[in-house]
Amino acid sequence: MCSIFSQIVAGEIPARVVYEDESAMAFLDANPLAPGHTLVIPKAEYERLNDVPEDVATDLYATIHRMVPAIEEAVDADATTVAFNNGEAAGQEVDHVHCHIVPRFDGDGGGP
Ligand code: 5GP
Repeated sequence: MCSIFSQIVAGEIPARVVYEDESAMAFLDANPLAPGHTLVIPKAEYERLNDVPEDVATDLYATIHRMVPAIEEAVDADATTVAFNNGEAAGQEVDHVHCHIVPRFDGDGGGP
């Protein structure tokens, strides 16, 4: 099993990495819904949130918590949509857990 995102972690596929530590990585989405649309992933590959061990989930949330204000500041956003598509029926296309952080701007309609 080697997802596109695992290949980004391994440096085999280029990405605009904006944050990285031992267990998590954040990089810009290749098809952004808004400027600064960022994906936060656990470096280890888990298909769904349901598969993520609690310690990894804790680290992942800490990274999300850190990235949200940093991204808002970087693109001067008024708000952010923070979302996981968890499973195919929810629209998950890449089978490696990832959190979308989508900057939102007053009047853009908002929503997931
Ligand atoms: P999903 O629908 O699985 O929640 O979202 C997957 C996201 O990954 C999409 O927003 C898509 O644009 C993004 N994506 C897919 N392949 C790549 C890639 O190779 N590089 C980057 N940076 N983003 C990707």
